Amino acid sequence: MAVRLTWTVNHACGHTIDHDLSARRADERAGYARWLTARACTDCWRTAHAADAAATKEWLAARREQEQADAEAWADQYDMPPLAGSEKAVAWGQRCRHQLVTAAYQALVAEGDWDEARWAEAEDAARTVDRAGWWLDQRDTDPADLPELLAAVTDADRSTENPYR
Ligand SMILES: [Zn+2]
Repeated sequence: MAVRLTWTVNHACGHTIDHDLSARRADERAGYARWLTARACTDCWRTAHAADAAATKEWLAARREQEQADAEAWADQYDMPPLAGSEKAVAWGQRCRHQLVTAAYQALVAEGDWDEARWAEAEDAARTVDRAGWWLDQRDTDPADLPELLAAVTDADRSTENPYR
């Protein structure tokens, strides 16, 4: 007697599906069919994953919205200028600037040896850079390097060969 090719599986989701297991070796079919019974059927699996993906997307969008609101409130509080660039670059640049400047403060003043007066100068320099793209470019930088980067861009502003204008 030949080993069955089609196995009826009662899936964990409650659906009963006939599976064509002819592609499997004859001695593997029973084990595979047993393994399938512990799982949801393909349709239910897809639906569950689509729901997961949608939930993740929603969560990411909500988190980004919160970060955006935080960045804007921070810019108001610290008198940071509006950024210039495309709409998308401006929103993203605001988030990068907020993260970078607050992380730099944490590294240099809160945990480092900078005093507030020295920090105030760095913060002033940050206020002069209103190009969203510049902040995006620095997003992976070590926050402690921010004052040096700001000094470089403010120097460049004074020279005639300013790549940022
Ligand atoms: Zn199902």
